[in-house]
Amino acid sequence: MLTTTKYVLVEVNTAVCKRLAELLRKSDIPRDEEGSALPGFPPHFIGNFFLALVAICHQTSPRHHPALEGVVNGTHLRGWDYLFARFESAARNDAALLEPPTWRELAAADIRNLFRDKEYGELLTDTEGRAALLRDLGQRMLAHAWKNADAIQEFCNGRVATGHPNLLDMLAEFRAYDDPVRKKSLFFLALMRNSHTWRYRDDDKLGPPVDYHEVRGHLRIGTIDVKSSELREKLRQGIEVASEEDFAIRQAVYDAIMLVSRDSGINNPSQLHYLFWNVFRSICTRQSPQCLKLSSNSTLPHRYLPLTVQQNDQRRCPFSPVCKSARIDDRFVEHVFQTDYY
Ligand code: SF4
Repeated sequence: MLTTTKYVLVEVNTAVCKRLAELLRKSDIPRDEEGSALPGFPPHFIGNFFLALVAICHQTSPRHHPALEGVVNGTHLRGWDYLFARFESAARNDAALLEPPTWRELAAADIRNLFRDKEYGELLTDTEGRAALLRDLGQRMLAHAWKNADAIQEFCNGRVATGHPNLLDMLAEFRAYDDPVRKKSLFFLALMRNSHTWRYRDDDKLGPPVDYHEVRGHLRIGTIDVKSSELREKLRQGIEVASEEDFAIRQAVYDAIMLVSRDSGINNPSQLHYLFWNVFRSICTRQSPQCLKLSSNSTLPHRYLPLTVQQNDQRRCPFSPVCKSARIDDRFVEHVFQTDYY
């Protein structure tokens, strides 16, 4: 049975989680799925595509810096969507990009060239750090004599977290995937499942990947409470937090999602993560959350729009009936922490 862990710094608010679970129990939550399943890609390249892309997917909208955006095949995209489309386009032209020997040799200039946009320029930050993560990935894959990600899956016999070896433990050997809250690992494993590439023996162990969008939204809804006044002050003033504070916040969000997943009867934390993540990044933005009235140019994916229709045909945030911040002006934003974990 899942228990709600008490934290010195941050605590799961079980009452709010129960109200949210009740709300979601009555809703038709879309399945977790990816917009593109990489049509035409050789199956053994799909794992390498996601393994490399997730390794460098962090901080795509850093504070005090323009967010990552650009145009790919005539479509304006931002953040993860831009990373995905640009990498897919490059990999279709040069399949060597999906091979560990290439990753081992990548330099910052290669990353800049890969993700530079003709119109918006070079918006991807920390290209040196991202290149180092890919070099480490390539080196360790080759040290294991793994040509592709499927070899890791076979080595772990399809187990996410049970027994030895398992996927979460093996992925943590890569520098890009050694986050104690395992954001990138859980994201990668969800992508592999949702693209119908991998299946897991212990599917219920696939928890939610917690990033800054998830943190912002859960702080606002109130599924977690920041108990430390010092940490609350850091959040209010945008002061960088310590690594144990970052861990406490994200682990509490992780536990809150697991609790809501169980209590709502959905029993699929990854499905809930996709809902939360899409709503938080599209509607519950840092500066202009659309709590009670959605903007006419909302970027929420279409499959989630039915959840936003309320009385009188007015669209609003699906979480507004239970959210502690829906009717206040002074809302939390996510904590500041320099990291390549998310
Ligand atoms: S109601 Fe407002 S603050 Fe609450 S989750 Fe929705 S957009 Fe965010």
